[in-house]
Amino acid sequence: MNDLFLRGGRVVDPASGLDALRDVLIRDGRVASIGEHLDPGGADVFDAEGAVVAPGFIDMHVHLREPGQTHKETIATGSAAAVAGGFTAVACMPNTEPALDSPALIAEVLRLARAAGLARVHPIAAITRARAGKELAPYWRLHDAGAVAFSDDGFSVSNPRVLRQAALYARDVPGVFISHCEDGDLKGDAVMNESARSFELGLAGSPGLAEDVGVARDILIGGDTHKPFHIAHLSTAMSAELVRFGRAQGIAVTCEVTPHHLLLADDRFDGFSADAKVNPPLRVANDIAALRAAVRDGTIDAFATDHAPHTREEKAQLLADAPVGFTGLETAVGAYASALPDLPLERFVALLSTNPARILGVPGGTLAIGAAADVTIFAERPWRVDAAAFHSLGKNTPFDGATFARRAIATIVGGAFVMRDGIVAAAVAA
Ligand SMILES: [Zn+2]
Repeated sequence: MNDLFLRGGRVVDPASGLDALRDVLIRDGRVASIGEHLDPGGADVFDAEGAVVAPGFIDMHVHLREPGQTHKETIATGSAAAVAGGFTAVACMPNTEPALDSPALIAEVLRLARAAGLARVHPIAAITRARAGKELAPYWRLHDAGAVAFSDDGFSVSNPRVLRQAALYARDVPGVFISHCEDGDLKGDAVMNESARSFELGLAGSPGLAEDVGVARDILIGGDTHKPFHIAHLSTAMSAELVRFGRAQGIAVTCEVTPHHLLLADDRFDGFSADAKVNPPLRVANDIAALRAAVRDGTIDAFATDHAPHTREEKAQLLADAPVGFTGLETAVGAYASALPDLPLERFVALLSTNPARILGVPGGTLAIGAAADVTIFAERPWRVDAAAFHSLGKNTPFDGATFARRAIATIVGGAFVMRDGIVAAAVAA
């Protein structure tokens, strides 16, 4: 492996408190030194002037669809989408077919990720067998196989007795419980947010209350069991308020927000297209403003995309039949910067790297000397989203055609470029 020399970038590493113009020397896949006017020696030089050099971005909420739904995405295509978007690592949700509820399936995901040879992939295992909400999964064995967290994402664990029991059994197992908070009964067969817009369109809506009730319940179960909970994809003003309440009680709770919930409201719905159909649904301006404020004041810990690829044919079905979600990995850096253009870079990097690494307990999230050289280099370079050119098999995004100001220009994993100027490296077989 060649040594790398990243010359003259603005190095932003919240973990070490560094924010300054520096050279970075990477040797044998690790950060060897950071300083001014370093000697590149024989290393390959990358000119990072005018760009930001950050610890590798980690998307802690993606759907890679393998095993079982490889027409939507594979671990290889999802890994390519990740590094194209500037992510050196992703954590993948277990709502595959079958669900990731056994050590053998966790091992298979890790094997496929190594074969893809691009991003690091951290599997999240199911909380209940087959995500059916009834029997507990074998948490220690899943952890030993490589699972970094537990979630039945896609659904809440609807029975609070089951979730409480699961949290007690898993309390001493490393790995947070990640909650998809939607009360299924309150949500019903909704296709969008319940609001003036849903009444106007005559569509079944899910009230913000469906999420708020779920968030409150899971925070309280976390407090009762002392199992750390992480609340996925906050979409309402009240959710953020509930996280603040939980913390004020001394409960260990963290949370994330997606780009779409920071940028888009339910006026995106025309009553026919499912392009904006997602769970939890796009809300209203008041929620967007509250979530942006929650990012600024530190309530939100992590940016996570909920990358949820589907085929064009699936998304083109009738609104009631079309699946929820859309791709996110390749637009996230631009979309987050667009939602919060004035967010300090130190905070931007913490939300995308330092904090997800800490919450998941995975390596990365720092450019400390000796750390594995996972690096994201990004710059203010306006670009236009072209979904047809995505590496992801999922070409649906509400951001298609949008212009964003910021983008990742290089992604380095373990000291090797896996994306450079938008070009993704060929997969290296494990
Ligand atoms: Zn979810």
